[in-house]
Amino acid sequence: MARPTQSDITALATRPIPEARLLINGQWVAGQDTPTPVLSPIDGSTLTHLASASAEDVTRATASARAAFDDGRWSGLAPAARKAVLHRLADLIDAHALDLAVLGVRDNGTEISMALKAEPGSAAATFRYYAEALDKVYGEIAPTADTVLGLIHRAPVGVVAAIVPWNFPLMIGAWKIAPALAMGNSVVLKPAETASLSLLRLAELALEAGVPPGVFNVVTGPGRVTGEALALSHDVDVLVFTGSGATGRRLLQYSAQSNLKRVYLELGGKSPNIIFADAPDLALAAKTAATAIFRNAGQVCVAGSRLLVEASIHDEVVAEVARAAKAMTLGNPLDLATQIGAINSPAQLQGNLGFIAEAIRDGGTIVTGGAQTRQDSGGWYMQPTIVTGVAPHHRLFRQEVFGPVLAVTPFTTEAEALHLANATEFGLAAGVWTGALSRAHRMVHGLRAGVVHVNTYGGADGTVPLGGVKQSGNGHDKSLHALDKYTDLKTAWIQL
Ligand code: ADP
Repeated sequence: MARPTQSDITALATRPIPEARLLINGQWVAGQDTPTPVLSPIDGSTLTHLASASAEDVTRATASARAAFDDGRWSGLAPAARKAVLHRLADLIDAHALDLAVLGVRDNGTEISMALKAEPGSAAATFRYYAEALDKVYGEIAPTADTVLGLIHRAPVGVVAAIVPWNFPLMIGAWKIAPALAMGNSVVLKPAETASLSLLRLAELALEAGVPPGVFNVVTGPGRVTGEALALSHDVDVLVFTGSGATGRRLLQYSAQSNLKRVYLELGGKSPNIIFADAPDLALAAKTAATAIFRNAGQVCVAGSRLLVEASIHDEVVAEVARAAKAMTLGNPLDLATQIGAINSPAQLQGNLGFIAEAIRDGGTIVTGGAQTRQDSGGWYMQPTIVTGVAPHHRLFRQEVFGPVLAVTPFTTEAEALHLANATEFGLAAGVWTGALSRAHRMVHGLRAGVVHVNTYGGADGTVPLGGVKQSGNGHDKSLHALDKYTDLKTAWIQL
């Protein structure tokens, strides 16, 4: 896509948004519960209303997904036919990329410069990746005596429910929807209340691309009603989720209370970004430390939210990170120059500010930021904030803020750096900055995290898996490994 102009964006951003509906069995229908307003994080205005799916609506969606799976209208197609549809969908996402990005930004407040790449851009790439992968997945023949034939098939699991969050709805949605559809499953998607619009638009494009009715359903509404009904459904075989630890725990309970559906969780982190004094480029390390936590206002699962700095360079690095933070443009997410957009909701903003107040009470020092800003816009914004003197027992060290708040802690030895890095219940991502190859490998080995970045932070593409260890979750999105969640192994043992 050619780089859009500011006036292209403004034209799309002023379009009225029709009241949103549910997609059940290929039909756009109203929800049984009262629709809820969608508020703009940019200025607090009401953008539209979102359908609220009742438990009964959810049952109709899961039943349609089950019926579609069972009659083979998608699961029974030749792989090449599914591949063609998913490629068409990727092309449609590209064709509507700006439209999708602007709609998503109006809904969730991510800065458009990031949304353009991370949302439609990566969603299209993800659909292409799994479209290409789907006819390269083979079964196996077991090594048996010649009197018997052992075949290991890879079968689709059936109905996949995907419950996704608000920070990158299209990107994270595609990480789950694309491999699930590619393997022949039917899907029921439940987007987050504050970021449903771009995924509903994606569903329109999926129908246009030729995904058959019932194969891809979308139910919107509150987590405690719509999400809960989906997670309790006996028609759902596999539940994939990205969101908070508290909801993840509930989903495991719902599974236990219903049909023991498999549950795969991606639950965020408190990811350490570790800068050693021997880093090859300290200026780059400091600048990247700022973008690793402040882009999308810190509303990123893998955000480098804890900066661990070798004591000998602590003051110099903190000053440099603070300079980089202050130089970032905070403002209207629809402005192409903005590097830090809005906070998704007032509740999220209050939570962020609460973390900062507590960090100060705990003895932390605010180096820059610390406050709400742009109140006159009517939206929800917060300064990028750096807190030093954060000790391992502080809440800011241990818990995910999911906002633009960087906790800084010094260390003196490699062993201490590793100990501090691993001293939380999370294990999603990490960063290591060092010029010593052997130290880099030692740290990769010792860090308990799903992804370790070395002399960079973020940017791992779709060819590599993303998944958490410890309480950051289980299972993987992205890469061929994601296919494991959406396929079952089935053995045929044949006497010859
Ligand atoms: P966040 O704190 O990032 O909003 P949540 O875990 O609350 O994370 O939300 C992530 C997704 O989980 C959203 O789509 C939300 O609606 C859904 N959700 C929240 N609570 C529940 C629940 N009890 N059951 C099922 N889904 C839920």
